[in-house]
Amino acid sequence: MQVLTLEQLSHSYQTQDGRVLALKHINFEVRAQESVAILGPSGAGKSTLLQIIDGLLKPTEGSVYIDGNKLEGPREHTALILQDLGLFPWKTVLDNASVGLEVRGMSKAQAHKKAREVLKKVELSHVEKLYPQELSGGMKQRLAIARALILDCDLLLMDEPLSALDALLRERMQNLLIEMQKEYKYAQIIVTHSIEEAALLGDKIIVMDEKPGQIIDIISNPKRGESSYRDSQEMYMMTKLLREKLKSSLGEDIHE
Ligand code: ADP
Repeated sequence: MQVLTLEQLSHSYQTQDGRVLALKHINFEVRAQESVAILGPSGAGKSTLLQIIDGLLKPTEGSVYIDGNKLEGPREHTALILQDLGLFPWKTVLDNASVGLEVRGMSKAQAHKKAREVLKKVELSHVEKLYPQELSGGMKQRLAIARALILDCDLLLMDEPLSALDALLRERMQNLLIEMQKEYKYAQIIVTHSIEEAALLGDKIIVMDEKPGQIIDIISNPKRGESSYRDSQEMYMMTKLLREKLKSSLGEDIHE
């Protein structure tokens, strides 16, 4: 994928009380290897947006294009990690990691070989025989990431993947996401309602508001890839700017 383009995208849901406009006139672009953070309060349409980009949901208006081709459904090289991670409880860590390859027709032995390589990257080799329910929260996250990496995704979509983790573990996982993206060179879109996480992970930060879900601003964050950015003045200024942008719509679920 060279470029993902969203053009005049709107989506409404039909409910018992009538139509709910979840997204209104969304326009933006994501380039190959770019990391985009989407920041906004609950109800801003962030999950709806990810499902549309994944091809699971058809927008009621507008279109998604990948390299100029209109997206008509899920595609092979897009991976989506949802909040519940979608791990199979009856499969071991190794089988969870390799199942996607087997579904694509790879032999079990070959799939296991490739899965072991990726499990090593995310430091899960020592638990390959365990089941998801035997893992810690951070390990489950790493397994979900491994599952996406193994499929050679060029676009990784993540819906609040780190929100269930405590602060220190979250920091480690953020570093892992930064490292893996550098190494595997995919584009990523990460939905978050943490201001700090958006500043840390987004080359570009899309700030959204609710009712209807719309983009307030798109802010570029060119310094974020630099070493020691986390503790830098630039990071501090970026979180300040994002907080100001969100002020008009500041809901109680916005935190730093
Ligand atoms: P976010 O992820 O930012 O919290 P969502 O995309 O989940 O936002 O929801 C955006 C709006 O669409 C909300 O008002 C929500 O209630 C509504 N919505 C989401 N999914 C559905 C659905 N399946 N049916 C009806 N309304 C929905």
